[in-house]
Amino acid sequence: MSDDYYQDVLAQVAEHTRPHIGAGTVADYIPQLGGVDPNQFGFAVAAVDGRVYSVGDATTRFSMQSITKVFTLALVMSRRNHNVWTRVHREPSGSAFNSLYQLEFENGIARNPFINPGAIVVTDQLLSNTGDAFGALRDLLRTESGNPELDADPVTAASERDTGDRNRSLAYLMASFGNMRNPVPEVLDHYFRQCSITVSCEELALAGLLLARHGRRADGSDLLSRGEARRIMALMLTCGTYDSAGEFAFRIGLPCKSGVGGGMLAIVPGHYSLAAWGPGLGPKGNSVSAAVALEAFTDITSCSVF
Ligand code: GLN
Repeated sequence: MSDDYYQDVLAQVAEHTRPHIGAGTVADYIPQLGGVDPNQFGFAVAAVDGRVYSVGDATTRFSMQSITKVFTLALVMSRRNHNVWTRVHREPSGSAFNSLYQLEFENGIARNPFINPGAIVVTDQLLSNTGDAFGALRDLLRTESGNPELDADPVTAASERDTGDRNRSLAYLMASFGNMRNPVPEVLDHYFRQCSITVSCEELALAGLLLARHGRRADGSDLLSRGEARRIMALMLTCGTYDSAGEFAFRIGLPCKSGVGGGMLAIVPGHYSLAAWGPGLGPKGNSVSAAVALEAFTDITSCSVF
C-alpha cells in the first residue's frame, strides 16, 4: 500500500473519531492519571515492514498501564518450559479487571493474565525468572518501540502505590493460596512501575509489531514462536478488554489490549500493529475514542481476523 493510502485512511479515522474526543471519564482512582487532559487523541499504524503512519497526538506520551501485561506475558512465555499456566487460567473473566471474588472460589488462580491478579502473577514469575521484572520489560519495550529512553513515570508509580490497596488485596489473597513466589511488596513494586511506563502511539504501535510479526523482534530474532504469539493474541481477543471483550470482538474484530491510561493496542496478524489513545474511558475501563478509531479503521480497511 502507498503512503497516500495510509494517510487517507488515517484522515478518515480521525474524521470519524472527532465527535468522540473527550468522551468518557479519565481514570481518577490513580490520582496522577486523573489530571490528564481528556481532549487528546492519537492513532498510529505500524506496518510489518517498519513504516509508521499516524494522526493526532500520536507522539504525546501516556501511561501504558495494562497494555504492559501483553509484554510481561510475552517475556514469561519466551522461556522454555515455563509453567505459568499452572498459575493463571485462560478464560475471559466477565468481571472487572480488579475484581476479587473469582479468586476466592477459584483457589487463588486468576481467570486470565490480562486482569490485575493474573498480571501480578505473571510479574511475580518474571521476577523469579530474571531477578528484575521491571527492568526486563523496560529493556524489551525500549528495543521494540525504538525509544532507548522509554521509562516508568515515578510520580504515577508512586500514585499507584499510594492507592494500591485493591492490588495488594489481590496479591495477598493469591499468596494465601500459595500462588506467589516472591514477597508481595516486592512484586507490587515491579507491577506499579510496569504500569506507569509512558509511551506514545507511534512507539506503542512499533512495540506491537512483535506480535504482528508472529513473535519476531525488531532485530530479526525470535522472542516467541509463531504458536506462542498466536496464543497471546487469542488471549487479547478474548480477555484483553476485560468484561467488554465480546463487545470489542463484535465491533473491531481484532486482538486488542487496553489500559486505563486510555491507550489501546490492536494487532492485525501478519500486517499491522495499531495504537490508539484517548484518555476518556467507558464504564469498563476502555478508552471510548480509541475504540471508535479502531472500529473505523477495521470498517474502512476490512482488516480483521474474521
Ligand atoms: N495500574 C492499573 C491497576 O492496577 C492497571 C489497570 C488497567 O489498566 N486496567 O489498577
